[in-house]
Amino acid sequence: MGRPSVLVLAGTAEAVALAGRLVSSGAVDVLASLAGRTRNPAPLPCPVRTGGFGGAEGLAAALRDGGHALLVDATHPFAAAMPGHAAAAAEAAGVPRLRLVRPPWRPGPGDDWVPVPSMAAAAAALDRLGARRALLTVGRQELAAFAGVGADLVVRSIDPPDVALPPGAAVVLARPPFDEAGEAALLAEHGVDTLVTRNSGGAATAPKLAAARAAGVRVVMVGRPAPPPGPVAETVDEAVAWVAGYVPGAGATIR
Ligand code: NAP
Repeated sequence: MGRPSVLVLAGTAEAVALAGRLVSSGAVDVLASLAGRTRNPAPLPCPVRTGGFGGAEGLAAALRDGGHALLVDATHPFAAAMPGHAAAAAEAAGVPRLRLVRPPWRPGPGDDWVPVPSMAAAAAALDRLGARRALLTVGRQELAAFAGVGADLVVRSIDPPDVALPPGAAVVLARPPFDEAGEAALLAEHGVDTLVTRNSGGAATAPKLAAARAAGVRVVMVGRPAPPPGPVAETVDEAVAWVAGYVPGAGATIR
């Protein structure tokens, strides 16, 4: 009998790290799945399949047809559809599922955060707060919500925005990780008084929050969708331990 197979729904740094840990254990086969949306995805240390499954039913069929023993949903904290599909598909296929999602950022002393539940609420908050110049770091697919805001906008994204932006909006193309000095310079250069971000969590994009704190820039923080009921891991270590609960050797590293 071959090794048990783990299907990892990827698209995050955590998925890359988890796949690496599991592959290096030698105890499981790992297949990573990408939506195919990102132009230059980070390389994965295992076989990769690309493209949607066709909803929860398609994913359930892929779990059965692929003979996968376990499913780890390591999609982005703001992935809207996949966590629900993964939960439904795993239940239908009788395959244990874990949601791996990094912890959210939390405000600390000196932070001026305005929590909001959605992009539409973030856009409304800019007008309500009287923001004059706002830096949007929300993902280019979320920009449409800001088309009518009164503030001048600075949009930072990895790939060029493909929606119409208000006249005068500045676009800064950049790829994480970022550092605090660079973030401070960006805020100062554009005279930003309000930063809008999703609460993605993680270290790669956290320096903007430290820079905002130091500069007295307020942060409109868009909260995450709640994960579906079921086990949740916040770290790769926890996810490896979950897999090792089913396949004991999966927690080991072969050197
Ligand atoms: P989504 O709303 O959860 O997914 C939309 C559809 O894309 C899903 O219904 C599924 O299609 C397909 N899909 C998503 N993740 C997939 C995966 N890992 N493998 C195969 N198909 C997948 O997610 P999204 O916000 O569009 O994001 C798409 C992908 O980009 C996710 O994998 C996510 O981790 C990654 N990502 C998202 C963000 C973000 O801000 N949302 C940021 C960084 C990376 P079917 O229904 O046909 O299966």
